[in-house]
Amino acid sequence: MSDQRQQYLEALGIPVWKLRDAPAAAVRQPDDAAAPLEVLATQLVAGATAAPATMGWDELAATVRVCTKCALSATRTQTVFGVGRRNADLLVIGEAPGADEDRQGEPFVGRAGQLLNSMLRAIGLPRSEVFIANILKCRPPNNRDPQPDEAQACTPYLARQIALVNPRAILAVGRIAAQWLLQTDAPIGRLRGRVVPYGEAGTPLVVTYHPAFLLRSPLAKATAWADLCTVKDLLGKPQ
Ligand code: URA
Repeated sequence: MSDQRQQYLEALGIPVWKLRDAPAAAVRQPDDAAAPLEVLATQLVAGATAAPATMGWDELAATVRVCTKCALSATRTQTVFGVGRRNADLLVIGEAPGADEDRQGEPFVGRAGQLLNSMLRAIGLPRSEVFIANILKCRPPNNRDPQPDEAQACTPYLARQIALVNPRAILAVGRIAAQWLLQTDAPIGRLRGRVVPYGEAGTPLVVTYHPAFLLRSPLAKATAWADLCTVKDLLGKPQ
């Protein structure tokens, strides 16, 4: 086992067993990960109200702050725009703010966020080095799944964030983010384990499990590690 993998597993609280002279364990891929996906959009469709398409960061952030395009504006404490380096190599896209994020105005600050930080650190990327955003900028009540009209209303904001960051790689965390970005209802087990060229720029997009899922299913952390290694390899490649 490589030192880096061992550090990752230890950081994530996975007990590391070492067999003397054991061969390096291969991370198991889902059986169907290699199967082709039938339906994949490779960019967000911003819709008719694509005004953010020309905005700079400050205008975009100010527009999101007062957005009332969907009903979530009535129940949010505040919007959660996104955080991090505006010219990051890696753009992380999650689902939607939860209670902690709604209170603090920053994505991934709860327990799942702590785990996401550990995962990023394990591939040499402190949180401050990446940009983190969500499909939705407002918290759905009781953390229910985003509804299609909410995601559609928020999409021009995310599309503009993707264009402004212009990352070298995108990491979609969780089923909801992956399915919305790729406009498919394929299960996450089929979406992870491959690299999809995304958007007009063909930015490599990798799907992995949501850290909240990993907290409930620690055995899947080893599989998520394979996804993070893919991201690390992509970022390590010359531009
Ligand atoms: N889960 C997400 O997908 N995003 C957050 O910001 C927090 C939890």
